[in-house]
Amino acid sequence: MTSILWFRQDLRLFDNPALVAACADGAVIPVYVYDDASNMGGASQWWLHHSLSALQQSLPSLILRRGDSVSELMQVAAQCGATRIHANRQYEPWWREADSALGAELDLVLHHGNQLADPQAMLTGGGGRYKVFTPWWRNLLEKMPPRKPLAVPSLDQVGSDVIFSEVLADWNLLPTRPDWATGFHMWTPGEAGAHQALRTFLPKITAYHDARNLPSEAGVSRLSPHLHFGEISAATVWHLGSKEAGAKAETFLREIGWRDYATNLIDQFPAYPAENGRAPYDEFPWRSGAEADADFSAWTKGKTGYPIVDAGMRELWATGFMHNRVRMITASFLIKHLLIDWRRGERWFWDTLLDADVASNASNWQWVAGTGVDAPMFSRIMAPLSQSEKFGAGDYIRKWVPELSGVSDPYVHDPDEFGARPAAYPAKRIGHRDARERALEAMRQTRSAA
Ligand code: FAD
Repeated sequence: MTSILWFRQDLRLFDNPALVAACADGAVIPVYVYDDASNMGGASQWWLHHSLSALQQSLPSLILRRGDSVSELMQVAAQCGATRIHANRQYEPWWREADSALGAELDLVLHHGNQLADPQAMLTGGGGRYKVFTPWWRNLLEKMPPRKPLAVPSLDQVGSDVIFSEVLADWNLLPTRPDWATGFHMWTPGEAGAHQALRTFLPKITAYHDARNLPSEAGVSRLSPHLHFGEISAATVWHLGSKEAGAKAETFLREIGWRDYATNLIDQFPAYPAENGRAPYDEFPWRSGAEADADFSAWTKGKTGYPIVDAGMRELWATGFMHNRVRMITASFLIKHLLIDWRRGERWFWDTLLDADVASNASNWQWVAGTGVDAPMFSRIMAPLSQSEKFGAGDYIRKWVPELSGVSDPYVHDPDEFGARPAAYPAKRIGHRDARERALEAMRQTRSAA
């Protein structure tokens, strides 16, 4: 029998359960559909182009289509006489809608391929779903290790000469003028690049616990875009991480767990990128208007006068990536210092991050904002200047904010305070104390209105 293998965020051959099952059925037509429903940001499109290009190298028979996933797959199925489609399960709302529509027409077989555990199988003692990370993590640990990674099956029966494929370059996924992606070439999208990134990181896995919060050091894995596009599976990372370091891998594996936990939230709350997890925040007095717009623009450009924030935002623009500690600081700054709705920041990250992932992005923004279903933390206001000092961000700032490249520690964390601000570097848009007071007052108003 002939079946279709539908690639989505699983652009790999190794440990791909859908591929293994499709090959076991007989002839396989591998298809990737670029579906506008996924509404990818600019940086993600850049990654997708290179990742598909890499997949085509190892699977030249890959059929590319652009359009509505359901109608494109129905067409391919009619052309090749397939009645079955194999795919790895995705939990984003648009994929779930496509799954329902497709499942009504064809035999859609969904495999568990991209998470450590199926989020729908992660139930509390009372049979409900988890909202908070810690109990969820405890339950996940009981289900670990994940399944053993699957070898690449024989690809002899994969491909067809008769099905039309579009040409990747025609999708215009890469920027032209201006080419804002020139700094992205430090990345190697694709399955080989993903395994190389893991190999580079593994010797550092035991130091991760101490190094992960230090933006000036190369202590994190930078696996996130590879994991998002499924070029390597979370199960593979788990097994190789555990093999390398045993129990000492736990801090790192817990972070992979946060990825699964985010998926668990988007599966339960498909509107999470747009709706507060806590209803009282619907009344929150976010700033808007020209002044707020000017603040937002300064934030996006890395010109807020807060060096750690500016370094992070410039790193993001230049490389499509930002260190996790700095993501927390920049997000907190936008929400609490500038009192700008977290959703504006979420959209900016969505467009500029190479790892933009609807579940991880929305859940982390809501976590920082304190608007989410997990921790009500609005009143925990991060102090960017002391965070910068505490986590030794001096070299990171000097790298990404050239105006401050000649300013030494400790002045570089808060040049205004020490009278060490070069004229070329902007003054703070708002002082920390004033911002904190304003945020707490907004919080009080929201509470009394609730
Ligand atoms: P490592 O520290 O090496 O961690 C390994 C892997 O664990 C990561 O690749 C990632 O898959 C996962 N992980 C780590 N931390 C988290 C987390 N807090 N939530 C979910 N998964 C995590 N991550 C994304 O993948 N996509 C996003 O769109 C995204 N948006 C974010 C927005 C904000 C405001 C914040 C605070 C965090 C966001 N993160 C997002 C989570 C985290 O910042 C990145 O996953 C991490 O920085 C990626 O770098 P790394 O691969 O070196 O991570």
